[in-house]
Amino acid sequence: MSELIAFIGVGNMGLPMAENLMKSGKKIKVFDVSKITIDIAKEKKLDVVENLDDLITTEVSTVITMLPEGKHSKEVFLGDNGVINKVSKDCLLIDCSTIDIQTSKEIGKKATEKGIQMIDAPVSGGVMGAQKATLNIMVGGSKKAFDLALPLLKIMGKNIFHAGDLGSGNGAKICNNMSLGIAMIAASESLMLAKRLNIDIKKVHEIMKNASGNSWPISVYPPLPGLIEGTPSSNNYRPGFSAGMMNKDLKLANDCAKSVNADTPLGKLALEIYEKFCKEGNDAKDFSAISKEIGGDAWDYPID
Ligand code: NAD
Repeated sequence: MSELIAFIGVGNMGLPMAENLMKSGKKIKVFDVSKITIDIAKEKKLDVVENLDDLITTEVSTVITMLPEGKHSKEVFLGDNGVINKVSKDCLLIDCSTIDIQTSKEIGKKATEKGIQMIDAPVSGGVMGAQKATLNIMVGGSKKAFDLALPLLKIMGKNIFHAGDLGSGNGAKICNNMSLGIAMIAASESLMLAKRLNIDIKKVHEIMKNASGNSWPISVYPPLPGLIEGTPSSNNYRPGFSAGMMNKDLKLANDCAKSVNADTPLGKLALEIYEKFCKEGNDAKDFSAISKEIGGDAWDYPID
């Protein structure tokens, strides 16, 4: 079978990932349900197919998906005209979306019943990581499927981990993002406290970057503008990674915790804080804009 990648979902993350595959010389066709997204993909010279039915044929050797939630992955893979009913059994399926473990396993089970190899392969590193191909990719699935996927994953990411059986990639990602959500709130609390104390935020940021209060939100993705160029906070909080997506991931983490009786009080509180922020109409803003919720009347930065 000649190599042809079908890439479904070319939003904030999928687009740069697909571009990296194209630039590496792979034959790739992309599809998205959003007209705006499709137009952007065309501008980037990607080969866009306007209809999922026309994209998924027995000629396709790999399907990669980068979709918002489990319900979207389920529809694309298991729907009446879904991927699993249309590809050949030699096709490899790679779902890079961050979704619930149960849905990942359900899709994988249906694929396995048809003799099709599948992995869940959610990523971390944000849009910048996707653009620079430095993503961390957390894989769940058989060793055979992992080995098959590895050359493609190495084009899109830097650190590729085999976390365990199908669903383990999402399990690892959910654990990671629970910490990230908590850390973004913690960084916002510290920087906004410094502001209220009238200490130069740039200095506090520099100190924290070098001291024991450092974290990914402090050193790479600060929640206040003017600290690191090119971050969403320095770009009116345009995402990036939306608050709605972080809310989804914290909900996944809390559901996981409940399912195994794990006590995660900070994860629960982080979910409540993001839930409130999203209900106030902020779900499309970058998740670092949570500093607005934390800062209250002391927060006075530009936001779209
Ligand atoms: P996004 O909303 O920008 O992109 C998702 C794309 O999927 C959209 O363009 C949407 O139109 C498309 N889509 C939805 N349903 C579809 C369908 N049935 N068929 C085809 N296309 C469909 O989201 P994103 O930020 O790119 O995130 C995608 C996934 O990656 C999410 O699960 C998210 O949690 C995860 N993630 C995001 C980031 C980040 O920084 N943005 C980082 C790591 C992981």
